[in-house]
Amino acid sequence: MAEKRKYKKRYCKYCEAKVDFMDYKDAGALRFSLSERYKIMPRRLTGNCKRHQDMISVVIKRARAAALVPYTVTRKHVVTAPFENLK
Ligand SMILES: [Zn+2]
Repeated sequence: MAEKRKYKKRYCKYCEAKVDFMDYKDAGALRFSLSERYKIMPRRLTGNCKRHQDMISVVIKRARAAALVPYTVTRKHVVTAPFENLK
């Protein structure tokens, strides 16, 4: 394979962690599914299962409404590790 794959492992991180419920206030748990521009990562890249991807999308949208996660990021504010400064 000449092309290097950007996302190598394909497994659901939430299944591995046995997550049954996600809290929108727990922003750290959402970081696996947010890109550096705070977009929701598609399932084809993260390898999340359907069930957890559905949970994630709902939770992230709630977190956005609660201003915990930004809707959009301008070019200036792109960060490599989105949740580093939240702790
Ligand atoms: Zn899962």
